[in-house]
Amino acid sequence: MPLSMLGNQASLEQIGKQNAMVSSEHYDVIIIGSGPGGGTMAWRLAQTGKRILLLERGDYLPRERENWDSQAVFTDARYQAMETWYNSEGKEFRPGLHYFVGGNSKVYGGVLLRLRERDFDEIKYPDGISPAWPVKYDTFEPYYQAAEELYHVHGLRGEDPTEPWSTKPYAYPPVSHEPRIQKLFDDLKRNGHHPFHLPVGILLDEYHGKALPHSPCIRCNAFDGYPCLTNGKADAQIICVDPALQTHQNLTLLTNSYVSKLQTGLSGKEISGVVVSQGAEQVTFTADIVVVACGALSSALLMLRSANADHPQGLANSSGLVGRNYMRHNNATILAISREPNPTKFQKTLGLNDFYFRSDDWHFPLGHIQMVGKSDGVQIHGEGLPDFLQWFPNMPFEWLARHSIDFWLTSEDLPLPQNRIFYREDQVYLDLTPTNMEGHKRLKQKLRELCSKLDVHPHLFERSLYLGKDVPIGGTAHQAGTMRFGTDPTQSVLDLNCKAHGIENLYVTDASFFPSIGAVNPTLTIIANALRVGDHIAKLISAQPKLSSKVASRGRVP
Ligand SMILES: Cc1cc2nc3c(=O)[nH]c(=O)nc-3n(C[C@H](O)[C@H](O)[C@H](O)COP(=O)(O)OP(=O)(O)OC[C@H]3O[C@@H](n4cnc5c(N)ncnc54)[C@H](O)[C@@H]3O)c2cc1C
Ligand code: SF4
Repeated sequence: MPLSMLGNQASLEQIGKQNAMVSSEHYDVIIIGSGPGGGTMAWRLAQTGKRILLLERGDYLPRERENWDSQAVFTDARYQAMETWYNSEGKEFRPGLHYFVGGNSKVYGGVLLRLRERDFDEIKYPDGISPAWPVKYDTFEPYYQAAEELYHVHGLRGEDPTEPWSTKPYAYPPVSHEPRIQKLFDDLKRNGHHPFHLPVGILLDEYHGKALPHSPCIRCNAFDGYPCLTNGKADAQIICVDPALQTHQNLTLLTNSYVSKLQTGLSGKEISGVVVSQGAEQVTFTADIVVVACGALSSALLMLRSANADHPQGLANSSGLVGRNYMRHNNATILAISREPNPTKFQKTLGLNDFYFRSDDWHFPLGHIQMVGKSDGVQIHGEGLPDFLQWFPNMPFEWLARHSIDFWLTSEDLPLPQNRIFYREDQVYLDLTPTNMEGHKRLKQKLRELCSKLDVHPHLFERSLYLGKDVPIGGTAHQAGTMRFGTDPTQSVLDLNCKAHGIENLYVTDASFFPSIGAVNPTLTIIANALRVGDHIAKLISAQPKLSSKVASRGRVP
């Protein structure tokens, strides 16, 4: 049988026996995708005691030595999905997607930042507008707090002047800096800057910079981009899916279950079937409520390929906006060479937002700077040497790695309707015109200036392997915006509860709903929103105990 399953074993037997088109099981809620958006939703709704089915196209990520092998992870892209998509010139690329229980969070860097309060308002850029959100920071604040507690975010409030207000301190202490990063922190402060401890979702118990014997995270050098062999990373599988399956028999997970299509019923206003391919078999599941959380790109694709007579442009697409307004941040991974060696193992502890909204010479936002996982010789080899070092006789990859300090730069990109994902003759196309590159260029220049003041070689060079193969178009890590939320059904796809306009039982809880993306990593906002929408759905299903039988009797096969 091509699926593995945890949780409700009775269902497995029934599904196995029937091997047919329609499952005899009817669920209160079906959630599609087990990343932070879907996994968190499953964790929340499992607590209602209602019957919840979680469908995941991938399997559990194998725990194996290769998890921590640079060659396997970065050069060979061992865990990256084998997809071929096309850009607007028709050139093939491989998107940076990971299909596993836990989704892309299995390989994420665990930096879990709140959007700034001003990110919820309209922000002007030379290239255009970063649109306002229809709800503001105060709606999200309690859910940000809950998300930080759930995902074990270690951090320290009060260091970063752009930090939004909060009701409580972090529940876990900040991850300590190793000596070279502490020196960078002190040097930055001496130069009048405001470095801060990066908030990181991690299962780390440390004392004086050393992981304690019982700590799942051992503070190794394979954070960020690698899966964690010791289950120390606070990803959606470890934090939400597995604990919920262990505690709640009413939650069922089916892996290797690809949702090919959503069907609508006679009214055209409700999802009546979720069509799932499990290897060669196809099963249709039914539920009162369906939550889509496949990642912003894959969720839009699911809506588009579910087009039918009632929804000829795709589900929830009367606005024509499904798949459009795609954002993914302008990201760069920059390696700076320090005169003194940098023996840091766990480098992802420092952030800097001094150029987030402006700089002394540019009155528009530049973006956010943080440390990225420590590069090693194999990664640098995989990327090729920068031109200025080509003359070195022994190809000094290891030397470079020993002296490198690695930064991650993020600038906001803007939602353009023409930046979109769509099908053409059954192939996936992703059109992308970059925006706000001037701000991003200036952010790099600011980093260069900082480095020259801090005894770090001012010649920086960009790494691309971390972002996935085929960057920049393949750099889909921060995908967002393909089904924005709002009050006007002609200008948005989802309403304020992230329910699809015009479809009564369809919700979306990945980053599709973002109207704009700010310049911080997106996942804490995805998790907070899943908890927010989860509260809404929990109330609905708890208030309507008979809804199941009602929808079921309307017919499971459209
Ligand atoms: C290398 C890397 C580093 C990152 N670092 C950070 C970081 O430090 N901080 C941060 O905030 N973010 C980071 N991110 C981004 C972060 O991983 C994503 O924002 C987050 O995982 C998105 O969650 P999601 O649930 O919306 O989607 P995903 O994590 O993509 O999960 C979607 C799930 O749906 C499944 N699925 C897709 N289609 C179907 C279908 N048709 N049927 C069934 N299942 C389906 C997929 O297999 C997947 O498991 C990083 C990403 C990468 C790749
Ligand atoms: S640093 Fe910790 S969480 Fe990251 S891979 Fe190493 S042990 Fe796992």
